[in-house]
Amino acid sequence: MHLSTLAQLSTALESKQISSEELTRLYLDRCNQFNDSLNCFITINKDIALAQAKSADKQRAAGNALALTGIPIAQKDIFCTKGIKTSCGSKMLDNFIAPYDATVIEKMNLAGMVNIGKTNMDEFAMGSSNETSFYGPVRNPWDKDTVPGGSSGGSASAVAARLSPAATGTDTGGSIRQPASLCGITGLKPTYGRVSRYGMIAFASSLDQGGPMTQTAEDAALMMNVIAGFDERDSTSAEHPVDDYTANLNESIEGLKIGLPKEYFGAGLDSNIAKIVEDGIKELEKLGAVCKEIELPNTQLSIPAYYVVAPAECSSNLSRFDGVRFGYRCEDPKDLSDLYCRSRGEGFGKEVKRRIMIGAYVLSAGYYDAYYLKAQQIRHLIRDDFQNAFKNVDVIAGPTATGTAFKLNEKINDPISMYLSDIYTVSVNLAGLPAISVPAGFSNKLPVGMQLIGNYFEESRLLNIAHRFQQATDHHKAIPGGFE
Ligand code: GLN
Repeated sequence: MHLSTLAQLSTALESKQISSEELTRLYLDRCNQFNDSLNCFITINKDIALAQAKSADKQRAAGNALALTGIPIAQKDIFCTKGIKTSCGSKMLDNFIAPYDATVIEKMNLAGMVNIGKTNMDEFAMGSSNETSFYGPVRNPWDKDTVPGGSSGGSASAVAARLSPAATGTDTGGSIRQPASLCGITGLKPTYGRVSRYGMIAFASSLDQGGPMTQTAEDAALMMNVIAGFDERDSTSAEHPVDDYTANLNESIEGLKIGLPKEYFGAGLDSNIAKIVEDGIKELEKLGAVCKEIELPNTQLSIPAYYVVAPAECSSNLSRFDGVRFGYRCEDPKDLSDLYCRSRGEGFGKEVKRRIMIGAYVLSAGYYDAYYLKAQQIRHLIRDDFQNAFKNVDVIAGPTATGTAFKLNEKINDPISMYLSDIYTVSVNLAGLPAISVPAGFSNKLPVGMQLIGNYFEESRLLNIAHRFQQATDHHKAIPGGFE
């Protein structure tokens, strides 16, 4: 049963093959069995999960069950959960119990889903390897000496090892898609504003977006049906009609025009990855898609622009963690300034401090025009590149990450090489577009993801293509050894 997708679990619950309580116990047992070796959960919510499961069983018995009622889910520890610790992977929030639920959590609760635990993540979602977490690194179930990717690495590892049938993630510069790629699962980053950011602890507000991390595109569609939509409590939430994301999954993709950016297949891409992604694209051609080379000429500017914009916004967002209004407070401060300095100095880790310093620098008088303003201008160029491309093609395909899962400690002391590995994901956030990563094969026994990028609010189309791809391939069904 633990190998089932959300869609299969929904049928099993509906046909009374299993109760939500039994299912929840099964996943909690797996979490307890494997969390010591994978470290993908910061908190396992045994009591709350069992109470939610019992109430889901009652809801079903009363005939009020929705598609995902009674199904366990793991939540990235960036989403505020009422009464449950929400740490954001930081010592700063190690003892923070949120007084309210994020909209995403509220919607899942209303749908009757069972929150089995809060997943480990890079501190304040800053990282590509999950090694910046205060709670220690997460391990990739495909090879425990490698990273699961980041920052939603706990979620990706938990779903890949089937400790949870699905999870939430957030993506500021690739944090849903890159760990999905490195762990062999499906990850959808929706259009900016499609999923509410209310109660999702902010890293870079103009880039952050929550979304599903699942085994299949069909499951991502089921989850989107629960979490997508306008939220008046998030001022950047989009007032755009919401699709039924499962409605078009089976549509033919005959005649679909796929753009292949030449910048995504050049230097810097591992040749095995290139081959696997090209084979994935051939599979889409067999299903009737037509490919054409395109250009995204400002791709090489996306990393420098992102690593100015994201730190700038983070330095502003994280100023609230001062030991007074929010967060860890140091012991015996001498005076107010000592309280601020030591609380922040002791509460934040190295990568977060590095970003705050970069952000404060690029926003400071005298440097603002040269760095922040320039980065914002580049952001427009990147958005225009995509809009020009979408005049000729329906979607864009390419790799998700430059390589497979790398070794723990391989890049942690070399931030530039860590940042460069985000080259195929960050421009999507700078433009605010939706994109999905789907398992496309294996290189040296480690998973490889293929990325599909759509125009604004075209999540349904991405899910349709990804679903057709998954019906024609088996990569998404592979389970890491020892977790079958
Ligand atoms: N790796 C990127 C960063 O460190 C993206 C992180 C994210 O998407 N949250 O900023």
